[in-house]
Amino acid sequence: MGYAEVSVNSPVAQRRAFSYTIPPGLGIDIGQAVWVPFGNKLLQGIVLELSRYPSVEETKEIAGVIEPRPLLSPSQVLLARWLSKHYLSPLFDAVALMLPPGFERKTLTFISCPSHQPDVSSLRPEQRQVLDLVQKQGKISFKELEKALGKKRAQTTVSQLVGRGLVVRSYELEKVRVKPKQERYLSLSVMVDQARQEATKLRQKGAIRQATLLEFLAKQSQSVPWAEARRRSNCNKAVADALVSKGLITLQQIEVNREPISYQNITPSYPLTLSTAQKLAFESIKSDLRQRRENYTSPSIFLLHGVTGSGKTEVYLQALAEAVRLGKRGIVLVPEISLTPQTIERFASRFPGKVAVLHSKLSLGEQFDEWQRIRNGEFDVVIGSRSAVFAPQPDLGLIVIDEEHEWTYKQNDKSPRYHTRDVAIKLAELTGTVVILGSATPDVATFYHAQQGEYHLLQLPERVTPSEGSPLPQVELVDLRQELKAGNRSIFSRSLSQATAKAVANGEQVILFLNRRGGATFIQCRNCGFVLRCQRCEVPLTYHFTENTLVCHRCNYRTSVPQVCPHCLSRRIKFLGTGTQKLEQEASFAFSQARLLRWDSDVTRGKHSHQEILDKFRNHEADILIGTQMIAKGLDLPLVTLVGVINADTGLNLPDFRAGEKTFQLLSQVTGRAGRGILGGRAIIQTYSPEHYAIQAAAKQDYALFYDKEIAYRRQLHNPPFTRLASLVYSHTNDALCQREAERMKRLLIAERDSTGVANLSLIGPAPAFIHRLRGRFRWQLILRGAELSAFLSQIIIPQGWTIDIDPVSLT
Ligand code: ADP
Ligand code: ZN
Ligand code: ZN
Repeated sequence: MGYAEVSVNSPVAQRRAFSYTIPPGLGIDIGQAVWVPFGNKLLQGIVLELSRYPSVEETKEIAGVIEPRPLLSPSQVLLARWLSKHYLSPLFDAVALMLPPGFERKTLTFISCPSHQPDVSSLRPEQRQVLDLVQKQGKISFKELEKALGKKRAQTTVSQLVGRGLVVRSYELEKVRVKPKQERYLSLSVMVDQARQEATKLRQKGAIRQATLLEFLAKQSQSVPWAEARRRSNCNKAVADALVSKGLITLQQIEVNREPISYQNITPSYPLTLSTAQKLAFESIKSDLRQRRENYTSPSIFLLHGVTGSGKTEVYLQALAEAVRLGKRGIVLVPEISLTPQTIERFASRFPGKVAVLHSKLSLGEQFDEWQRIRNGEFDVVIGSRSAVFAPQPDLGLIVIDEEHEWTYKQNDKSPRYHTRDVAIKLAELTGTVVILGSATPDVATFYHAQQGEYHLLQLPERVTPSEGSPLPQVELVDLRQELKAGNRSIFSRSLSQATAKAVANGEQVILFLNRRGGATFIQCRNCGFVLRCQRCEVPLTYHFTENTLVCHRCNYRTSVPQVCPHCLSRRIKFLGTGTQKLEQEASFAFSQARLLRWDSDVTRGKHSHQEILDKFRNHEADILIGTQMIAKGLDLPLVTLVGVINADTGLNLPDFRAGEKTFQLLSQVTGRAGRGILGGRAIIQTYSPEHYAIQAAAKQDYALFYDKEIAYRRQLHNPPFTRLASLVYSHTNDALCQREAERMKRLLIAERDSTGVANLSLIGPAPAFIHRLRGRFRWQLILRGAELSAFLSQIIIPQGWTIDIDPVSLT
């Protein structure tokens, strides 16, 4: 007899797996999905291990197999175990990352009858009724029996019949319902000339919007998706309906291809001749890929460091092609925001018909189809955002993480709170996969590992551009303190204001960037740029509107807002930054001739709106784009010759040791938006702290300058990568109770540390979390610093209401 260790889909299971007996005749494999009895329920589970002995005395039997083919590979099983252990997450949450989309569906119970002529003489009437129904259909869903007999009676009767061996139960997952995808299209139902005449008539009658839509359609050579028509002719459904009822246009549903990539419009592309630097990088990866075909001992991780436009993607493409030649397949991870049609197209055109896309914006049906096809080995390359690292790609040989420093690679909102990079590296350790981390501004910890020789450092120092020109943009730093002294009270410095007006007048485009995160949280003197900090913790104090106080989010020190600046005695102290709407307003006054377009999360909620805004700007339907973080990412906008950063200090003054790093990365990316075309370009960064190393380095586009300073501070202040952190946040509707629990936990952790003698473990806080109140709940935070945090925390009973984040990317 054999036993299986099963991860069960129940919140009660937590980090444990459970032992089950494998019934005779049932073939059970590692990674397989099974039904198991759990309490008085029947639940889904995944087999993690087979053993000859159970881990507990009494075991129940596995009730059935959900799908004969294992859903997880043996290395994914190990990966799930590691995720649960490292991130202290429930085991099934970790397993679930690797299951087909929509796996956690309802269970349906079916009743069938094994023998053909059962002895029915001693059956009671309702038992006979059930048996009749089952026999008539061969197999019947339990739901139907419930309908016929009522819930209670159906249950007892079936149990009795099962007990006597007259019927058996079996289980199936509810089917994934995949609806065909349809889109509405508009077209003319009259000839173009007639449409034009009708439009003129409508216009005369004052039906301007109908006329506009009709004229728009008259200009199109084929039918137009409704969403596009609506946007471009600025109409609504009532307008279209009016034209339909007049018989001028038709609105029809057309079934569209649900494949995430439409290869119709993609022309194949071929490998480019690599530059010297690209070639060095590629050869290095290639020889590693070849070596590891036979055997591997340690993971092989490459850091490909090169500015935007230095040809990293071309290196990824050729490395992937090499992996494919060796009979392997790859996964390419990009930040969610970069998963644009252009990015996908680049990969799809190099591997026609062989690229799968996985991301959360696809419908469940699309994700499900794609997952199955990936598992069947239909694709050479899977491209997707963070969770695509768990794709069931067979023969995995290469994982590429583009923009590896991006924080969206960390899952923050639910367990397991994993980081894609760490997962990929773990997977590489388990399978011998090669990993390429690419970035213009690598994560400080990643670069440190490369410096230590743990990763291979590959550098692409220059942009590859078709022409000789197009160097990196020139960056100018503007000291905002001087502006006020010179009597300029606008949020635009003289320099930015002149440059913007000039660019717009020349028919060029401008991006105005606002780092909204942190914008209204710290208090700054407009005269000298001074920011109030906690004297003990060094971090900027956070302003709390409701209490009109300043709070340290590390140690809970509180103080009132001073009337004058402690540094220069100016009264212009309470300066809280600007929002995008305010910026838009000011820009419309300052540049009244320019067409403005705002791009932030308030504007973009729908599925396509990012793309719509981007298209609009690219088509030069606006002169100035105003936006937040989103605009910083990989956009290639050749008409943009000027990028203005309204206030570089906003991100710098967050109470987080990564504030400098984040600011450097953002500024580098944003300024990199300028000068992507032949027109060249420049960037203007406005700041109150032009001497800060992160801002200096970003202006000079000098990663080494930034890194050397940053790593020295990290070492000195004992922050990652020289230690690890865990953030523990307790949330509750009652603030005082929340604080007490956080203090209790601190005492508990200290007692545990002292009794077990764990060295080098320190605690910071408790203090109110940076976002003190979230959806009606107060939050208090403890920060744990040390080497073996997961092992230490796993011994402690942590009550409900706590959220643990191991290796958090942000302390705010
Ligand atoms: P990155 O990924 O570092 O931003 P890309 O790979 O996108 O850089 O390259 C930037 C541009 O240069 C792209 O248009 C790309 O097609 C082109 N490019 C890259 N490598 C070469 C090369 N070896 N020869 C010619 N053009 C290249
Ligand atoms: Zn001051
Ligand atoms: Zn403090």
